[in-house]
Amino acid sequence: HYDVLVVGAGHGGSQAAIQLRQAGFDGSIALVGDEPELPYERPPLSKEYLTGDKDFERMLFRPESFWRERDITLLAASRVTRVDPAAKTVATTGHGTIGFDRMIWATGGQARALPCPGGDDAAVFAIRKKRDVDAIHAALADTRRIVIVGGGYIGLEAAAGFRKLGKAVTVIEMADRLLSRVAGAALSDFYAAEHRRQGVDIRLGTTVEAIERSDGAVSCRLSDGAILVCDLVVAGIGIVPEVGPLIAAGATGGNGVDVDRACRTSLPDTYAIGDCASHANVWADGEQTRVESVQNAHDMAKVVAQDMMGEEAIYDALPWFWSNQYDLKLQTVGLNIGHDEEIVRGDPGSRSFSVIYRKAGRVVALDCVDRAKDYVQGRKLIEARAEVDAGALADIAVPLKELLP
Ligand code: FAD
Repeated sequence: HYDVLVVGAGHGGSQAAIQLRQAGFDGSIALVGDEPELPYERPPLSKEYLTGDKDFERMLFRPESFWRERDITLLAASRVTRVDPAAKTVATTGHGTIGFDRMIWATGGQARALPCPGGDDAAVFAIRKKRDVDAIHAALADTRRIVIVGGGYIGLEAAAGFRKLGKAVTVIEMADRLLSRVAGAALSDFYAAEHRRQGVDIRLGTTVEAIERSDGAVSCRLSDGAILVCDLVVAGIGIVPEVGPLIAAGATGGNGVDVDRACRTSLPDTYAIGDCASHANVWADGEQTRVESVQNAHDMAKVVAQDMMGEEAIYDALPWFWSNQYDLKLQTVGLNIGHDEEIVRGDPGSRSFSVIYRKAGRVVALDCVDRAKDYVQGRKLIEARAEVDAGALADIAVPLKELLP
């Protein structure tokens, strides 16, 4: 039995335990997670860890001694399979039944499997966990041609990483542009041009219909009729939130598990945070959404720790995110959900520009490619819920901070 049981030892869960101790919580805390490693950062998996430029030890949130000294019990390689909200217990693999006073559900999501015949072939890999990338590394020596399914951030970061490793890379994207779920067309077009310049074969508006093998060779059959012979396939087509046991226990949800402003689920004394937590985001005019970012996991963890400590806490942090591809640093801030206008600030050809999203005249989000100043100053425009003239936003001669009302 633990006073606080945290399920999922990723970004949100680890941070929640750390925040609770920092806030002076002196009850017992256990962090149960199904990965065998000490808690680690996920973003390098598709970046420097993939390319071999970062050692795993440097991805650990904290050394082993930290958890021990703070009396946070790590129950690794253990999965919660069932929740009993009335008895306040969970069933786990490896650690039997564990009781709790309060629970924080921070399980993220599982990489979505390729929904086509052959989607489970041994040549198909995800990039979600350390073990996924270790498996890719083990296969890489015999790999020359890689097909990446999905032109989102993870797929594109992986494409850049594989190019650095000298592999031939094709990216398959079902939509008619890259990053269609998260960015506007200007950013999509920029990254398509950039990846093509770097030698990536980008195929838009097509999907993989089957992954086939003949004489040991793997090929992807696309919906446009093309056949791509390759050695390895990476699926980067999103995640499925890991909320099965909570929903089975009666928690409200659908796309993830629903939480209120303090990240409480509909089950007693049970919170949910991070990628799996569906919430009404104030920066999307209260639209119900899940946000998959380190920022969201960390800030939600902080809200839960505060709420548990009896302080009033509301999740209203402004979302931000980053992505590294080649030498390009993208920083995004705000949520562009429901935007009705995109303003390009600067020349994409210079590889340093921003895309500013407006909704009913208000600045709601920015995507900044190597424009750190726009990122820092633009977030103030979002926070101010400023209505700013489009022509002024596009004028790089005028710093964004001068447009603050
Ligand atoms: P996670 O960090 O995924 O942790 C969930 C943990 O729970 C996992 O260890 C999982 O195995 C475990 N678990 C699941 N189910 C159970 C169960 N039933 N029992 C026990 N344990 C369970 N975000 C950014 O902001 N910037 C980036 O550049 C960026 N790059 C990324 C690159 C990659 C390759 C990936 C995969 C993600 C990236 N993200 C990035 C997103 C970011 O890592 C996630 O938003 C963040 O990790 C979410 O934290 P979380 O705690 O919700 O879930």
